[in-house]
Amino acid sequence: MTGLYIHIPYCHSKCAYCDFYSTPRRDSLDQLVSFLVKEWRMRRHELPESPSTLYLGGGTPSILSLEKLKELIEGVGNKSWIESTIECNPEDVTLQWIDGVRALGFNRVSMGVQSLDDDQLRFIGRRHTAHDALQKMEMLLQNGFNVSVDLIYGLPHQSIDSWRRSLDGVLSLHPHHLSAYLLSYETGTRLWAMLQSNKLEEASDEAVHEMYQHLCAVTASEGYEHYEVSNFAKTGSKAVHNSNYWNGSPYLGLGPGAHSFDGKIRRYNPSSIKQYLESISHNMTPFVVDAEDDLERLNDFIITRLRTNVGLQIEEITRGWGGELADAILKDVRPHLTSGMLVREGDRLYIPQRQWLRSDAVMRDLIRVL
Ligand code: SF4
Repeated sequence: MTGLYIHIPYCHSKCAYCDFYSTPRRDSLDQLVSFLVKEWRMRRHELPESPSTLYLGGGTPSILSLEKLKELIEGVGNKSWIESTIECNPEDVTLQWIDGVRALGFNRVSMGVQSLDDDQLRFIGRRHTAHDALQKMEMLLQNGFNVSVDLIYGLPHQSIDSWRRSLDGVLSLHPHHLSAYLLSYETGTRLWAMLQSNKLEEASDEAVHEMYQHLCAVTASEGYEHYEVSNFAKTGSKAVHNSNYWNGSPYLGLGPGAHSFDGKIRRYNPSSIKQYLESISHNMTPFVVDAEDDLERLNDFIITRLRTNVGLQIEEITRGWGGELADAILKDVRPHLTSGMLVREGDRLYIPQRQWLRSDAVMRDLIRVL
């Protein structure tokens, strides 16, 4: 199965923690859609088969008008996708928007909520309140969408009680899917700058551990499957598009800052609207190619799989990289099997979900260096 990702690089404003490529300047918005469609026509042959999933991410795809969205969806071939997701922010969700995206065939909406504490929302630069977020979630659920919600934990000044309230509030509406991310201070973000200049304090390891354990416990008691370090799904609602990334399936990424993988080669579009538009207007593909070697591919595979509940199949390593390497890995993991950080069941090695946040030591011993 293959997927199509389209990056819409605009946001109303920049959130303090975010390093995704996006800009509040929208002067090229009208042009962008036709360029995305042109890029699709130029590059669709990179996929070995027609894509089954569509994911509109960003940035904030809900910034696009319904007319522009229609032009985009028709341009990439309006069809029945197995899963068709659009990311949105609460402030953009209206009944008209809901009707419009449903008419365009979207069956899944991923909404950035991040917190249900208004002080925290203001601090991280979100433009909605907790009340708005809950109201819009309800509207989406009542209108039959498969709804995924993003939350962040480990924020500065976030208490365990505040985290509990955010989780409880979101889960009380029973969304199909939850993505709960541990805050990371990415270079260049406002929070990173504040940390560098000692204007805030990182959450302690103990606080983060407690929040994560609470997250694992409460999602399990509400019937969610914890299938990737940050992702939780009700039965039948795992994110198909994102799961394919973790399975190593091919995907094509269109737009500034988008990545692609054809099964062998990774390609990266420039994180610059100007460069992107220039390349496409000259009928040139915009990407740079990363010729990943065998070891890098193996390391990617190990790291990605050990963050999921699928884990590593030794047989897959033998098949892809040879029996000698598989044997060496099995030797190196012995101490982690003894300590319980890693579990072996037949051919499968996995890290128990509750240890995923502390899996760095295991990863270090498993990844191969020249
Ligand atoms: S978190 Fe979402 S809305 Fe905020 S800047 Fe990043 S992409 Fe834009």
